[in-house]
Parts: sequence; C-alpha cells; structure tokens
Amino acid sequence: MADPTTPFDLVILGAGSGGYACALRARQLGLTVALVEEAEVGGTCLHRGCIPTKAMLHAAEVAEASRHGAGMGLRTSFEGVDVPALHAYKDKVVGQLHKGLVGLVTQSGTEVVPGRGRLVDATTVEVEGRRVTGRTVVLATGSQARTLPGVELGPRVMTSDGVLRIEEIPERVAVLGGGVIGSELASVFAGLGSRVTIVEALDRLVAGEEPAISKVLERSFKKRGITTRTGARVASVEAGADTVVVRLEEGDPLEVQLVVVAVGRGARTQDLGLEEVGVRTERGFVPTDERLRTDVDGVRAVGDLVPGLQLAHRGFAHGIFVAEDVAGLEPAPVVDVQIPRVTYCDPEIASVGLTSAQAQAAGHEVASSTYPLGGNGRSIIRGTSGSITVVREVDGPVLGVHMIGAGVSELVGEAQLMVGWEAHPEEVASLVHAHPTQGEALGEAAMLAAGRPLHAHA
Ligand code: NAD
Repeated sequence: MADPTTPFDLVILGAGSGGYACALRARQLGLTVALVEEAEVGGTCLHRGCIPTKAMLHAAEVAEASRHGAGMGLRTSFEGVDVPALHAYKDKVVGQLHKGLVGLVTQSGTEVVPGRGRLVDATTVEVEGRRVTGRTVVLATGSQARTLPGVELGPRVMTSDGVLRIEEIPERVAVLGGGVIGSELASVFAGLGSRVTIVEALDRLVAGEEPAISKVLERSFKKRGITTRTGARVASVEAGADTVVVRLEEGDPLEVQLVVVAVGRGARTQDLGLEEVGVRTERGFVPTDERLRTDVDGVRAVGDLVPGLQLAHRGFAHGIFVAEDVAGLEPAPVVDVQIPRVTYCDPEIASVGLTSAQAQAAGHEVASSTYPLGGNGRSIIRGTSGSITVVREVDGPVLGVHMIGAGVSELVGEAQLMVGWEAHPEEVASLVHAHPTQGEALGEAAMLAAGRPLHAHA
C-alpha cells in the first residue's frame, strides 16, 4: 500500500472498461495511478456483459445454423444444449481475457487497491478503512440492471446477470423490454430452443434505431418464432414453483418458465459518498461537462455513470480522454453521436451517427437512401436479408449509417469513419470495396447515396 501522504496523480474508483482504460493510458503517460476495485478487474463488460453474453449469442447462432444445414446440403440437426458445457465455453472466454487484462494492469505499474471505495473528500477515497489520495479522482463505477417496481427477482425472474448462470434452457421465456439487452437475450434463448415472447412498452423494438430497422427486426424475429408484443405494459409478475405468470395491462397473460427483465440500466452511484462531497447526481447519474469534469473540482467521471450511451467502448474512450487531459495532452472530447452502436441479436443491428429524424430535428437538409443486402452476394450466401441506410446532408457529408443483417457489426468500423471524418458519399463511392464481401454493400450504399448505384434495381 502506498504512503497515504504521497498522493497519486489519479485515484480511479472502479476497474471496468472506463476505469482500467484510464489507468493503462495514464501509466503510459507517466502518471501514478491507484485503481480501486471491489470485485474483479474488467467490470461489467468482461464479467457480466459484453463478453459472456456475446459468447452465449455465438453459441445460439451456431445452434440456429445447425437447424438449417439442410438448406446447404448438410446433414445437421440441433440436438439440445449441454448447459454446463455452454457455461464452461463462456467462462473460458472470459477467463482468458481476464488473465490477459490482469497481466496488462500489473505490467503497467498501476496499483490495484482491492475493496469497496467511498469518496471522503474531493481528493480522498477510503477503501475499507484505508485512505488513498489523488490529485484527480475518477469515478468509474458503471451501471447495474434495473428491475420493475413490484417485480421480485428470483430463480425464475432474472436480469441479464442471472441469465449467465441459468441451469437449464427454459421451454418458454418472456423478455420484459425490447431494447438492446432484450433483443439480444431473446435471440439467445430462441437460438437455444426456447419459445420467446418480448414485451415492450413502446410501439417498436430497439426504439433508438431508425424505425425501418425495428420493422425488419420484428419481421426477422417472427420468422425465427419470437413473438413481439409492443405497446404492452406489464401489470404483474407472479412467480410460482414451476412457472411465472406475466399479466399485461391488456391482452392474454403469459405463462412461462423464465422471465428476463431488460428494462434499462441505472448508474452505480449509491453509497459512494457523492452527496457528502457535493458531486451532483441526476437520477443517480453524474452529469459532467464535455471534459468529463463533475461539479467538484478535481473529480471526473467516465463511462456508464455519465448520462448518455451506456457502451463499453464509450467507457474506454472516456477513460483514455481523462488520462490524456490530466496529463495535459488536450485531447478532443468524446462525442456520443460518433460512437458506433451494435445490437448483437440475429440479425445484427449496427449504426453510427444521426437517424433521419434526428438529422432533421438538428436542422439538416436530409437525404436518406437504403441499399438492401438482398443485392449483396456474400449476404445471400450466408442467408441473411437486411439493409444499409445512409443518411446524408443534401450535397454534404454522411450524417448517419444504419444497418441490419447478419454480420453487419463488422461493417460499423467503415461506417464510423464515414461519419467521423464527415465523408461525402461521393468520396466513399469512389473507393474500391473487396468483392465478395458484405463491406461491398456499404460501398454500394454510398454509391446509391451519391446517386450512382451499380447493383440496384430502379
Ligand atoms: P434499453 O434502454 O436499450 O431498453 C430497455 C427497453 O425496456 C426500452 O425499449 C423500454 O421501452 C422498455 N421498457 C421499460 N420499462 C418497461 C416495462 N415496464 N414493460 C415493457 N418494456 C419496458 O436498455 P437495456 O436493453 O436494458 O440496456 C441497458 C443499456 O445497456 C443500454 O444503454 C444499452 O445500450 C446497453 N447495452 C449495450 C449493449 C451493446 O452494445 N450490444 C449490450 C447490452 C447493453
């Protein structure tokens, strides 16, 4: 333990994506760092979020593919799930990444302080009776799954955290909330053989995306046997020994073996001493300026507890930004609209920048065009439909790219460059895209937006 009279340059509270990225970058820049963590380095993303859920999604995709081998002349079938082996696969992926990360953090010379930290004043964090001081304190405690009032969690009613430890694949599942997590977990369970119903209060799934994307998703889910009940409000959830009854304000109740609650994530800012020190919160979140400074001098915040997108890669970017800012590099602030968003359900959704409606509301003169993946060889080979929509300023740059279809998550990097570098569709259209790739469809979408489509029916 460091001498408490010598302050660290940074004391970081929370070793998730935002916190550990901040620590690693700060060490590269020669700053001294204490990283306080009550559980494991890696946080939600590595242990309860992105990584384990994507491992389960991959297993579900393989299961789905095994059902459809006959369409390619393959004698495959889906025989069921060995649940402990599924968890072993997922845990192995997490374990490998965790080991690598612990090595990185150790090598970096970051001082990891195990235990639960609490702010005592603007420069001091108390960790289980010990005081760690820093010239800058970085709040990086992340988020946690919310539940609904009156809905008690238990063995048959769980958030995404519980899903990672399920003991059997339920016959019927109700997913409450059709946002990002709801759509991903509906995909997991449908792939693994459950009959899934999504209950969404709004009038469409993934309501943050372009409306056309929600339509394609709902249609694709229907084909996969996933039922969507939109505009549906939950009245009660009653868990029995073998089943759970979900009553909606209108329509038939659902009787299922498992209820997954996916109605958003709240900030983990309770009992951190924020109020006492004067760090303002709004509904639990910590508002900051664009340089991620809170209302208290010397206290910054990064990641999910800062209002805005709750994404691991935003946390990384915030953490790097704060390290560089504290080191005096004057980095450019992280802008939410330039951050790519991916929902890893089947079909995948990937988008970056403004939707048409957002662009119009921001005063742009907007032109929007949609290229169907049905015109893309590689997409047909892998049996996916879907589309790429390019939203542009008339005679101006690309403002947003919105994609749906199997495999589109891997296209979002190029889409992000278009938006981030304010490329005009004409510039992207003149770049030669590899054939046959799905990326080619992005080139075609740019050609279409530039008014010179090649493989597009009139
Ligand atoms: P979300 O905000 O994406 O979706 C929650 C959904 O629940 C909304 O559509 C909302 O209308 C609905 N809802 C709320 N109350 C309801 C009720 N009583 N009955 C029915 N529906 C109700 O939140 P999420 O899916 O829980 O995800 C939380 C956060 O984590 C999001 O910010 C998400 O972006 C992030 N996340 C991202 C990824 C990824 O990048 N792939 C994966 C997981 C989570």
